[in-house]
Amino acid sequence: EAGLDELGITEPYLRDFALDVVDEAHKHVKSNWQLEKAQRIKPSLWWQQVAQAQAQTQTQTQTTSTEQSDANANTPKLSNLSTDGKAWFIHPVAMVDYFAGNNILFKKGDKDEIIREINIRLAGFGGNVPTDEFTERTENMIKQFQRDYMQVEETGVVDMNVIKAIDEFQEEYPIETYFTQAKCKCSTLKLVEGDKVCGGFGNGKFEKQKQDANTIEMYRKYEYPGLHRTLFWVLRAWKFYLSHFDQRNMKIELVKSGYRCWSDNNAHNFRKSTNHMGKALDIHMIYNNTKISLENLCDDAREVMISYCNAHYRWQVKNVISLEVGIREKTPKDTAIAATWIHFDVRSFELKYLEDKYFVKSAEQVNGLSMRSLITNKG
Ligand SMILES: [Zn+2]
Ligand SMILES: [Zn+2]
Repeated sequence: EAGLDELGITEPYLRDFALDVVDEAHKHVKSNWQLEKAQRIKPSLWWQQVAQAQAQTQTQTQTTSTEQSDANANTPKLSNLSTDGKAWFIHPVAMVDYFAGNNILFKKGDKDEIIREINIRLAGFGGNVPTDEFTERTENMIKQFQRDYMQVEETGVVDMNVIKAIDEFQEEYPIETYFTQAKCKCSTLKLVEGDKVCGGFGNGKFEKQKQDANTIEMYRKYEYPGLHRTLFWVLRAWKFYLSHFDQRNMKIELVKSGYRCWSDNNAHNFRKSTNHMGKALDIHMIYNNTKISLENLCDDAREVMISYCNAHYRWQVKNVISLEVGIREKTPKDTAIAATWIHFDVRSFELKYLEDKYFVKSAEQVNGLSMRSLITNKG
């Protein structure tokens, strides 16, 4: 009635009609509720019955003869239902998330295959090699990642938040296109007679030199079976720093050159260089400012890689990302010079970090399983 007043309905015949409709609706709701109680809720109230039956069976088992007990022992028992009616459901993935948010999963001194993955995936944050050990470098790398990418307090230890952030970092900086661009292009060339086209990653030539410590790295002719994973994770981090820590809006245009097999070398006037057999990438850059020369742009972009990814010019320093020099660093002795592109490689890595397993043939293999599933599978 109050509602009708509020709506300004005063005509008695309209009010009667409206109230009839309300009564009708009430009846409908009431009969639905009766059906709900009788047909849906009551049949599902089995908990108490089952819990009581279980309690009785247990008492019986305790008081009956040994023979019967033996018979019962062969029948699988249901786990006991709690008589208070409380049920617990535990979802393993959700539980890992819930409990491990701030719990330390790995810290300095630890050793694990997952640590090797972290050392590969965060290699662009201050530099690292693919070891399974949590070293001082790993600690500094985690701190840099927390400070710059996650923007949280630096702890230098791996917790679930770091694990999740690595997966986000991977998704935020895709490398699929770059990887495709980095395949060997010998199939598009006129090859020297007797040379074979490769499938994008060489034909495994000069395998005997693979782990030969006496071969000088520069002359190691082995065609590695893919591209080194660290290259693409460094590329990701460098891209992050170019866009977030530098105001000049320098952008990666494409991977101009990645894998170059011996057939490719020979077709290029018998080129001798070996570090593009899986260990190097050449990058072209773009920049929306015509006042700066391409040479300057490449030198600037190299400096970003030096500052944040701990890259070094030339190959004297071991186990870091190495850069070919541009105009700024050029000396009269320099023969190879990357003036209008950026060449970086993993040539200075020790042989143990250049095993076949680090060289891959697809972007999926660069990425690997997500960090979260690695942690969850570990249990
Ligand atoms: Zn090739
Ligand atoms: Zn190069």
